[in-house]
Amino acid sequence: MNREATQDGHAPRADGLHIETRLAHAGTPAPVDGRAGPVNVPVVRTSTVRFPNTATHAALSASRAAGAAVATYGRHGLDTHRALEEAVATLEGGYRALLAPSGLSAITLVLLATLAAGDHALVSDSVYSPVRKVDHTLLQRYGVEVEYFSPAHDDIEARIRPNTRLLYLESPSSLLYEVLDLPALAAIARRHGVLVAADNTWSGGLYYRPLALGAHISVQAATKYLGGHSDAMLGVVTVDSPELARRVGAIHDALGLSVSADEAYLVLRGLRTLDVRLARHQANATEVARYLAGHADVARVYYPALPADPGHALWQRDFTGASGLVSFAFRDGAARRGADFIDSLRHFAIGASWGGYESLALEAAPERLSEHSYWNGHGPVVRLHIGLEHPRDLIQDLAQAFEATDLAARRIA
Ligand SMILES: *Cc1c(COP(=O)(O)O)cnc(C)c1O
Repeated sequence: MNREATQDGHAPRADGLHIETRLAHAGTPAPVDGRAGPVNVPVVRTSTVRFPNTATHAALSASRAAGAAVATYGRHGLDTHRALEEAVATLEGGYRALLAPSGLSAITLVLLATLAAGDHALVSDSVYSPVRKVDHTLLQRYGVEVEYFSPAHDDIEARIRPNTRLLYLESPSSLLYEVLDLPALAAIARRHGVLVAADNTWSGGLYYRPLALGAHISVQAATKYLGGHSDAMLGVVTVDSPELARRVGAIHDALGLSVSADEAYLVLRGLRTLDVRLARHQANATEVARYLAGHADVARVYYPALPADPGHALWQRDFTGASGLVSFAFRDGAARRGADFIDSLRHFAIGASWGGYESLALEAAPERLSEHSYWNGHGPVVRLHIGLEHPRDLIQDLAQAFEATDLAARRIA
């Protein structure tokens, strides 16, 4: 396993502080001289923002219009939101972060802020599937053409057109964790003046830094690891420049996106323990992945931290750790095996989303997998999110589910 992430912590960043230290302090209120004060920023709920006089109102409005992270109305969020934005911008190494009500709305915000009628976008074919819904229901109606490419097989330079404006990626991908060569793809896009955006949900922003590898925009479902407790919905977009902050900020305003101060607080609270949680998710998931790789009923395990995974070399080069997501395909391929296996599990809840402390299992729908050129057609595929339980309990549970469904298979035969 990656030595930096597990033993020495992450390498210090430009200002000399390690990310663990910055995560503990980013966005906390500054102490006021001579006064006792809380460690945490309060939950600031409001619709109306009051101004001491009209001149201040005008000055703050002008500064907001110029792209500053300043609130003149409750919809913009106040101190709690600014603190979270600052902490995420620090984590992602970006210029500014903007909050959205969900991960999907954050993705939609990125697409609407970077694309206009007549534009063309290149999107890797293994992205989070609802991105295609945004394309089909929204972008197509507004005259934007989205083209899906195979990260492993296609020459993207040949697909860049004069009207190509955006390269949108997700690495590792959803469901099968295909690792993309982001630095190489971003270098091609940059040569042609194409913006690069990457979904960074898998790493929680801790184990992967798309902005440092060539992306202009990093987007995350904070619903997952940033929040980390399955109790909040939130998305966040981090941009690398004032110009993009202004562009994304303008569309954010136009859409009227608003986030509750309570959600912002929960995610800020989750972020304080991101490093320790992810380290345990990674350790547990690695044990489970190794167990699955050695099981006779398993044809293939998808987990980039395993040396046998095709993405392992790229993962080692570009990432400092792995998440708790592990998928696997059954060797026997019987259609009902996936559902029966999941129904036999005792310690895994059946449910979408992931990134909380609890383990989850879900069958990856073949119609979703078939969107990915990375999939070899084998299945059924089960996606596990490995939580913070003891890994031996989880492995025992998986073992009894393999046995129970193997018997069922024999009874049917
Ligand atoms: C869950 C997820 C999203 C969407 O996040 P929501 O907060 O559920 O809208 C986006 N990208 C990836 C990779 C995800 O797993």
